[in-house]
Amino acid sequence: MNDPDCLFCGIVAGTTPATIVMETDDVVGFLDVRPVFKGHVLLVPRQHVVTLSDLPEPLIVPLFSAAQRVADAITSGLGAQGTFVAMNNVVSQSVAHLHVHVVPRTKGDGLRGFFWPRTKYADGEAETCAATIREALA
Ligand code: AMP
Repeated sequence: MNDPDCLFCGIVAGTTPATIVMETDDVVGFLDVRPVFKGHVLLVPRQHVVTLSDLPEPLIVPLFSAAQRVADAITSGLGAQGTFVAMNNVVSQSVAHLHVHVVPRTKGDGLRGFFWPRTKYADGEAETCAATIREALA
């Protein structure tokens, strides 16, 4: 189930050091070693899965309820006003073991929403795009 070459499997197993903030039967949360802001937590399923698509359905609620609990703890405990919760899948994913970032946010902290540029839909393009996604969902 676990990958001996995986950094986050090592943290889950306790063989790679990390600053643990929470553990459940299914999930481990630890501080990101290079935090965007202090208190930036990574949550991983104990099971080695790479992307969100690989996450077995029974682990969805355990992982995201852990993210909810950590986000609440970051605001109530650290005094952050809010959080940014995110996950890279394949692109920009530097560790191939699914991880949810929970980043403390406070107004004026210097992060201005998403860093990437925004685009616009041409006339009719939004409906075509939405239809394509709806078909893929069906
Ligand atoms: P991503 O780029 O979305 O895959 O995020 C991977 C995150 O893992 C980065 O924010 C890194 O700072 C963090 N990271 C890498 N190695 C470690 C480690 N040994 N302990 C804790 N966090 C780590």
